[in-house]
Amino acid sequence: MTSTEERPAVLPEPVASAYDIAQQNREYTMFSWSVQGGALPPVMTGGRGSHFFDGDGHSWLDFSSQLINLNIGHQHPRMLEAIKKQVDTMCFAGPSFATEPRGKLGQKLAEVTGLAKTFFTLGGSEANENAIKIARLVTGRDKIITRYRSYHGATMGSMTASGDPRRWPVEPGVPGVVRVFDPYCYRCPFGKTPDSCGRECVSHIEEVIQMEGPDSIAAILVEGITGSNGLLVPPDDYYPKLRALCDRYGILLITDEVMSGFGRTGKWLATQHYGIKPDIVTCAKGLTSGYMPLGACIVSQPIADYFDTHMLWGGLTYSGHPVCCAAAVENLAIYEDEGLFENALELGAYLGQRLEAMKARYACVGDVRYKGLFSVLELVRDKGTKEPLAPFGGTSPEMGQLAAHLRNKHVYAYSRFNFLWVCPPLIITKAELDAGLAVYEEALALVDTLIA
Ligand code: PLP
Repeated sequence: MTSTEERPAVLPEPVASAYDIAQQNREYTMFSWSVQGGALPPVMTGGRGSHFFDGDGHSWLDFSSQLINLNIGHQHPRMLEAIKKQVDTMCFAGPSFATEPRGKLGQKLAEVTGLAKTFFTLGGSEANENAIKIARLVTGRDKIITRYRSYHGATMGSMTASGDPRRWPVEPGVPGVVRVFDPYCYRCPFGKTPDSCGRECVSHIEEVIQMEGPDSIAAILVEGITGSNGLLVPPDDYYPKLRALCDRYGILLITDEVMSGFGRTGKWLATQHYGIKPDIVTCAKGLTSGYMPLGACIVSQPIADYFDTHMLWGGLTYSGHPVCCAAAVENLAIYEDEGLFENALELGAYLGQRLEAMKARYACVGDVRYKGLFSVLELVRDKGTKEPLAPFGGTSPEMGQLAAHLRNKHVYAYSRFNFLWVCPPLIITKAELDAGLAVYEEALALVDTLIA
């Protein structure tokens, strides 16, 4: 074909079978976090709202918003329109050009975060890479404090900054990362209970700072609310204390809101529940709801001012990509116009009650944690001993059977170690939520029979 006129107006139906698609994918592409020679990958052919369709024509309820990013659900008509419109106008502009969608998005991000300026990336890992670099440039210090139960991405720096076992294969990784313990009240690393707690999860960080040398520490990098390591909702005064600690030592506070940001907890940022402002926020996922790849590193006014007179050492060919920025502008407008954060808060409160009831009802549910439509069940063999249903970093036959039950019922859920998440799109209805939770209850009842 040589011209647009010669192209068919409607593309032909795909001729490949689900098996052929899976086979071709596995033979010629590499999949994340998996041994490449295993079972054929699942095939996805489309979606609508809270559901997507597999290669065998089944409809799945998406209780994980894909990778906890598809906040407005599958194939939202307004998003499709906005992306098409931008594609028709201008598909690409180099990163040194000003464009309308880039400027609009930057201004909107400043408004909703209370910060000043944004450096755009293509995803969350790159956003964290740049946050670390910016913190080092601005402070002239090199160490970064992160937490053990954290994930910040899969590029070299962000993977090193992560605390969970996904970092082990790249160690020693990038130098200068120092790790501290998490606000994990169910399994307090300091052996405290709510009665005896003196917020050692913050005070021990001060001791680490002193032992490392306060003048060597550029930033503390933490997830807004820890996501993929068990959804650890911090006590209400954790962030105010952490903010004060950073201020005391001139350390920048970077919050990674890649998973917890953009309505997942019912606010723009999870830290807005705690009334503090970070110096740098990183985000991705819910920024475009996954419709286009985009990440952002949003900085405070003093940091923005620093770069008015100092070089920003870094750039990306696709930084500020106009189609990605246009998608994000529309996505943020959809959140507001459709009241999706309100839905997350309202249905999140209902979800919280349902999860508490499950904890009371099923022997295998040790703890439940939730904020908006960001929630997890922590599964145990024994509520008294809190022995996890699968070890941290591993799996177990019971977790395998639980996941298989959800799969067989076509409920798409995220489970890892002894955690089972409930993170549906923010557009989900109560009826859909109930339908998915009914299947979760069947799966929990099954696990109870296995551990009895
Ligand atoms: N930070 C957090 C908290 C995440 O959950 C993730 C991905 O799941 C990342 C960073 C990495 O983002 P990306 O996969 O877009 O690079």
